Amino acid sequence: MPSTMQDFPLTITALMRHGRLIYADSQCVTWTGGATPPRRAGFAEVAENAERLAAALTRLGVRPGDRVATFAWNNQEHFEAYLAVPSMGAVLHTLNIRLFPEQLAHIVNHAEDSVVIVDDSLVPLLARIADRMPTVRHVIVVGDGDASALGRPVLRYRELLSAEEPGFAWPELDERSAAAMCYTSGTTGDPKGVVYSHRSTFLHALAANSSSLVGPREDDRVLAIVPMFHVNAWGLPYASLLSGATLHMPDRFLQPEHLTAFIASERTTVASAVPTIWHAILEHGERHEIDLSSLRLANSGGAAAPRVLLERAQERYGLRIVQGWGMTETSPLGGMAFPPPGVEPGTPEDTDWRMKSGRVAPGVQMRIVDALGRELPWDGESVGEIEVRGPWITGSYHRVDAPEKFHDGWLRTGDVGTIDRRGYFQITDRVKDVIKSGGEWISSVELEDHLMAHPAVAEAAVIGVPDPRWDERPLACVVLREDASATAAELADFLRGRIAKWQVPEYWTFLDEVPKTTVGKFDKKPLRARHAAAELR
Ligand code: ADP
Repeated sequence: MPSTMQDFPLTITALMRHGRLIYADSQCVTWTGGATPPRRAGFAEVAENAERLAAALTRLGVRPGDRVATFAWNNQEHFEAYLAVPSMGAVLHTLNIRLFPEQLAHIVNHAEDSVVIVDDSLVPLLARIADRMPTVRHVIVVGDGDASALGRPVLRYRELLSAEEPGFAWPELDERSAAAMCYTSGTTGDPKGVVYSHRSTFLHALAANSSSLVGPREDDRVLAIVPMFHVNAWGLPYASLLSGATLHMPDRFLQPEHLTAFIASERTTVASAVPTIWHAILEHGERHEIDLSSLRLANSGGAAAPRVLLERAQERYGLRIVQGWGMTETSPLGGMAFPPPGVEPGTPEDTDWRMKSGRVAPGVQMRIVDALGRELPWDGESVGEIEVRGPWITGSYHRVDAPEKFHDGWLRTGDVGTIDRRGYFQITDRVKDVIKSGGEWISSVELEDHLMAHPAVAEAAVIGVPDPRWDERPLACVVLREDASATAAELADFLRGRIAKWQVPEYWTFLDEVPKTTVGKFDKKPLRARHAAAELR
């Protein structure tokens, strides 16, 4: 029997329309470094600029389905592109500004970008591939800075917009058509393109606003530290259009002194970032007076947050860091680890819950499977690969076949973990990082977590290295805090009290810094390469 409901298309245009009408005065606030006041624009103004941008892009020949790339920081203009490009039927492609030129050129060409919108401060980085972008017909520069390094004529964002009138006639769109695309950051493999639809983005925005996920409200001020090129800033810009939360955009000022100044002066209430950024903010707080009292929620995702990070934030600032889990392939929100009812905030039990990677998001289905693909029970103990499916989970990749990434219609996440009966899941490792020692698995994440609890340790990354007897054994790569000292034997002793003896690494190396990926996660690829090269010598 058919339903009587209207078949209303779920589009980014509809998100924008809502934000503009209902929350016209909610703001997008872009930090300018502190010496000058931040730039402010109401959602109505942002939407009006989006209309002008769509008109300008149409005049430049951008047609439905064309890819319009951004090479930009988190700022008002980037937000305008987030609205204009998908709503005109084109596809927003957020480029990762930290990629190596080869990877960047590959991605621009693979996506066949026709226009690139670039911040003037990033022109030098884009210039490195200026002669390798044959599909790019126009480069639009935001800001008045020098763009001569690009070696081609450019258009200026501001001039283009001022030449247009607001009131663009947004087309009717198929909710299943492409709205935006993002390439995986390639921590474990080659970057692959994920293409979001209007429908998936709309539903993800609704879910992000639910109380089981980020749940911003109109009186929130949400700081998207996570870049807009890192899985759509985890959905915060689109979600804010539905909730009316003010958006705080750090632009290029991502250093802890700027982030903390922004938070203190604009009274940010919610902020999202990878664990290394939260770590840097707390470290900064060791040496400077910082005020995080306005934050009601600090969200960490993209990699496992060490326990010591959650504890320090709680002890020093009463700040509750809650972890979320997701991937480029999952738009990204797959779950957030809010403790269940009855758990007193700030207690060790509360921290235990927040050490979970997440609780399955509404709208997402999750399961764990063993090596033969058989489903495992939700008992909080059985360890298997996590698989997900749902309306904002990708079912394929852009122009690449990757059958190994799917299993009967489920996305294989490459993450290993447990799920309990209430849907709290714990990522214990990535399939590629787990250390297989004598037929048993050692979780690199768990070892890192324990190591980082040692007062002398600033950072720790653990990788598996070949071992003649056990196949693989853990190699602990440790960065000591400034002015602190500890030997491998002392650290091994420290671990012995906390984990099974056979898991304690016998290989140790001390580094100045753990290499990071383009989005600030520990990067184990170079550590493995370094070890392999040392072995060959
Ligand atoms: P990449 O795989 O290149 O890092 P993504 O940014 O899409 O690209 O990262 C997704 C991966 O990040 C997940 O598969 C998972 O391994 C890791 N991740 C994300 N959130 C968490 C979390 N809360 N805890 C542990 N790992 C996480």
